[in-house]
Amino acid sequence: MIKHQVCGVFSLGKMVSVLALGFALFLSSASYAADITNIRVWRAPDSTRLVFDLSDAVEHKVFPLKSPARLVIDIDDAQIKAKFDELDFAGSPIKQLRYGKRGNDHLRVVLDLKSDVKPRSFALVKHGDKQDRLVIDLYDANTETIKTVAKVTENASGKRDIVIAIDAGHGGEDPGALGPRKIREKDVVYKISQQLAAMIDAEPGYKAHMVREGDYYIPLKSRRNKAREVRADLFISIHADAFKNPKAKGASVFALSRSGATSETARFLASKENEADLIGGVSGVSLDDKDEMLAGVLVDLSMTATLASSLNVGERVLQQVGRVTRLHKRQVEQAGFAVLKSPDVPSILVETGFISNPEEANKLNTYSHRKELAEAIFGGVKGYFNDSPPAGTLIAYKKGGSSILRHVIENGETLTAIALRYNVSVDAIIATNELRNPTIRIGQILKIPIGS
Ligand SMILES: [Zn+2]
Repeated sequence: MIKHQVCGVFSLGKMVSVLALGFALFLSSASYAADITNIRVWRAPDSTRLVFDLSDAVEHKVFPLKSPARLVIDIDDAQIKAKFDELDFAGSPIKQLRYGKRGNDHLRVVLDLKSDVKPRSFALVKHGDKQDRLVIDLYDANTETIKTVAKVTENASGKRDIVIAIDAGHGGEDPGALGPRKIREKDVVYKISQQLAAMIDAEPGYKAHMVREGDYYIPLKSRRNKAREVRADLFISIHADAFKNPKAKGASVFALSRSGATSETARFLASKENEADLIGGVSGVSLDDKDEMLAGVLVDLSMTATLASSLNVGERVLQQVGRVTRLHKRQVEQAGFAVLKSPDVPSILVETGFISNPEEANKLNTYSHRKELAEAIFGGVKGYFNDSPPAGTLIAYKKGGSSILRHVIENGETLTAIALRYNVSVDAIIATNELRNPTIRIGQILKIPIGS
């Protein structure tokens, strides 16, 4: 019987309950081993994720059909108990979802597609308050071979921007911490991240890169990799967490620890954040143990230097954040966050407050408080990079102008002539003075970056 097949993949405890259910089924012929209680869809830039919430684990099979393009999802011994007319397939390759019976008690779900997809599917086992789920990822076929090519953004002066990767925690399937009045961490931190990105992009010499660009889940390891792909100078993961005790309050800044977490809360939060992959789905397997191995190999190569930078920038961010909100701890804490384990990109994780604390949840829900937080974070980041700008960046170049001369423009002078006279480039003069256009006027005072 199909139920026994299903049992094969279960733990003993689960097997007993399924057997009991199987017995119940024997009495009522209209029952199924599993109900699909909800269907949800998330669109990411290169893929679409469909999630079936299940009352119990199922066996399934996924295969594509051609002309017209379809994807068939066969689920054994299950029935749909969900409404899905409100599923929004906008921007996805799915035209519509329909289903029917296959044999007596099996289910066939068919996705009518607008374009070819590369499907991948896996089950997520029951975890915490999350029920069993079946995840179908549809990767857009045409983007399969397009690999993100790291481009260095150069500005007018020919000097590159400092790239800040901003990682809004959680997303899609994984809401993160939940606060009162249905405030969700994934939404709050996405808004803070967007505000931070806008500020960074508005600042000459800086460029923001949003790791997550919408409401979808990205595995923790991919988040780090995305930062490395754009050659980020800094990775900031933004969170707003929950603690068992609703009185827990205050913002914190974390860097990676190589050994144990520095506090009990740090340990607790790290385990919660790392849990995200179990909730958001990496085939039900946490990447954390593998990362530990990777970290072990790479640690002595560059981790030490990276960690020192992470602690330094973290310290400055913490200081600034402490001006706009309460702090949970007065120093940068260290814990084993999987998302921070880049060996070569300084990485910090900012807990902007406790969403489980009603007062802080209310504040995090306002635009003005989020703006203050974003400003504070960027303030700390700027302080750090002003002191130690990476070579080749506009910020380094501007800082290198310790030998800046002042030149008062006289009648008949041109930018080119001035540049030649001081042996600097026209671009350097334009960048140093932040000139919007290269026209100059008599009496104007120019800063000349000698030796640039
Ligand atoms: Zn979080």
